Amino acid sequence: MPTGRFAPSPTGDLHIGNLRTALAAWLFARSTSSDFVLRFEDLDRVTSSLEHEARQAESLRLLGLDWDGRPFRQSDRFDAYEDAIGDLTDAGLTYRCWCSRREIREAASAPHGRTVSYPGTCRDLTARRMAELERSDRPAALRLRCSSTRVTVVDRLHGEFTAEVDDFVLRRGDGVPAYNLAVVIDDAAQGVQEVVRADDLLESTHRQVMLQGLLGLPTPSYAHVPLVLAPDGARLAKRHGAVTLPDRVTAGDTPERVTAVLAASLGIEVPESEITPVRLLDRFDPSSILLEPWTLSSSMATSAW
Ligand code: GLU
Repeated sequence: MPTGRFAPSPTGDLHIGNLRTALAAWLFARSTSSDFVLRFEDLDRVTSSLEHEARQAESLRLLGLDWDGRPFRQSDRFDAYEDAIGDLTDAGLTYRCWCSRREIREAASAPHGRTVSYPGTCRDLTARRMAELERSDRPAALRLRCSSTRVTVVDRLHGEFTAEVDDFVLRRGDGVPAYNLAVVIDDAAQGVQEVVRADDLLESTHRQVMLQGLLGLPTPSYAHVPLVLAPDGARLAKRHGAVTLPDRVTAGDTPERVTAVLAASLGIEVPESEITPVRLLDRFDPSSILLEPWTLSSSMATSAW
C-alpha cells in the first residue's frame, strides 16, 4: 500500500504552518487512497515531549485528519539507527569528527547563522592528531564520508535540481542519531513512498537521497510545500499571535473555517467558508499547489478569519 506521512517534532503546539503542511500531506495521501502515518520526531526527547505529542495529535484530529495505526516515535528506534551506522562504518563510509560548529564556520569562512558545507577537516587525520583528539575531552560526532558527491533530486512541486552533498553528521557528539539518518531509516522502515513536507527541508533532501543510495533503500517521491510566513516576513512562530488551532478556536474560528482558509492558501478551490478535509479530497490537485510562501496578515494573526 502506498504510504504518506506527517512527521512533526513534539516541541510545542502545531502552528498553522505545520497544520497546513499536515493537511497537504494528508490530501496527497488520501486522495490516492494511500495509507498515512504519523511519526513523532523526538530525537531530542524532553520530559514535555509526551504532552506535546498528545496536543499535536489532538490538533490534527480536531482539524479532521486521521492516520493509520499507532504513531511512531523516533526515540523508540535508536537501535535501528545504530544498525545503519554500523553498516556504513563496516563499509568504510564513516569517520569521527571533533570539530565544533564555530571551527567549521571559521574554516569555511561563513557568516554566522548560515548553513555551511563541512570542509573535511577530520576526514583524513594523521594517527598522531587522532590520538591527540581522542585524549581531549571533546565529544566526537560521526560523519558520512561522501566527499562532495553531486546528487539530483526530483521534487513534484519544484522540479529537478542538483546539489553537492558534504560529509554530513550521522551521529552527533552527544550520541544522538542525526535527523537526516533517522528520517531515511524511518521512511524506509515505515514504507513511506511519498514525502510531503515544508520546503525549508528541501536542502536536506540531497543528503537523504544520498544515504538511501548507500543503504540500498528506495527513494520516496518528494513534494516540498511552501512555508507560512508571519506578517513581519519571518518564519511563523508562536510569538506571532493566534497561530495554533486552540488559539484560532479562541479567536472565534471553527476547525472547518481553519481548514477552508488553509486549503485556499494552498491553491485549492474551496466552495464554502467552512469545510472538512474529507470534502476537499475530490477537489485536490497537486499541480495547482501554490509555490509562493503564504504570508499571514497582521489582522489574521489576531482576529477571527
Ligand atoms: N520533524 C521535522 C519537522 O518537524 C520534519 C521532518 C520531515 O518531514 O522530514 O520540521
